[in-house]
Amino acid sequence: AKIEGRNRLCFFDPDIQAKQEERAKLEAALHSALVRNQFRIVFQPQIGTDDRVTGAEVLLRWEHPELGMVSPLEFIALAEETGLIIPIGLWVLKSACHQLRRWNNLSGWESFTLSVNISSRQLHQEDFIANVSEIILETGVSAKNLTLELTESAILKNVEDSIEKMNVLKARGLSFSMDDFGTGYSSLSYLKRLPVNELKIDQSFVRDLGIDLGDEVIVRTIIAMGQSLGLSVIAEGVETAFQHELVRGYGCHHFQGYLFGRPQDAKEFESNHFDQSSS
Ligand code: C2E
Ligand code: CA
Ligand code: CA
Ligand code: CA
Repeated sequence: AKIEGRNRLCFFDPDIQAKQEERAKLEAALHSALVRNQFRIVFQPQIGTDDRVTGAEVLLRWEHPELGMVSPLEFIALAEETGLIIPIGLWVLKSACHQLRRWNNLSGWESFTLSVNISSRQLHQEDFIANVSEIILETGVSAKNLTLELTESAILKNVEDSIEKMNVLKARGLSFSMDDFGTGYSSLSYLKRLPVNELKIDQSFVRDLGIDLGDEVIVRTIIAMGQSLGLSVIAEGVETAFQHELVRGYGCHHFQGYLFGRPQDAKEFESNHFDQSSS
């Protein structure tokens, strides 16, 4: 019986079973999260070389009544697999644009930007351009204040489709940022073909600056690549003044990370960052 048990281990592994049950539960909960109004968006400040806030990244939060706050790291992949990312992503974009419209109406904040994460499935969906255009029209935002963040892997899924869509939206005023840059396989020649406006240095390279010499080389190279292609470069995951000093010294234009602010809700964001200029 013991041997039999061992042979069947892979089928009855309680860990795997528990994980599958948890996944099924999460999927069911995710299905109803939108209609139950359990999603929130939070905003993390992005700052320029003059230390002023220029914009924010929009990050999704799921507040489940029993599970509590579920990290996007746990549910975005599942939402991608199930296709739920399509309606969820549209909700994020719409909510972000409503907020952007309000903030751009404040005097002195007309050029404030929001960056919204777009998943691979969203980008390659048939109606993507139509959906984005409709949300822009309906919310009345200025497209030039909206940046879409795409990862290299999302673009690589279908390079021609990506380029075509990016060109159409770029012509309508939108900007594109290449998220998690440096973690994929970008070469200069391929990057040259992509209509991106900004490179976003992945936080894994920023983390060990000053400790890991290899990361310093990578960060400097990305900034040099950006400069030679005329692209803006933003460093994410900046947690210490030391890291800030270094990346700024290398010629980076924009910064984002806990040093300047955690992701926060709209109210907090306003009181922390908007009031600075009205005084
Ligand atoms: P990401 O796009 O790379 O977002 C940056 C992540 O780094 C965020 O995690 C942010 O809270 C975190 N972060 C910011 N500053 C620091 C810092 O100084 N140190 C450290 N250690 N971390 C920092 P978050 O909010 O948990 O999001 C995780 C990932 O989930 C995002 O990575 C993104 O890929 C995905 N995600 C979040 N919101 C959305 C969304 O609306 N749509 C899609 N498709 N994906 C989203
Ligand atoms: Ca991002
Ligand atoms: Ca990122
Ligand atoms: Ca990331």
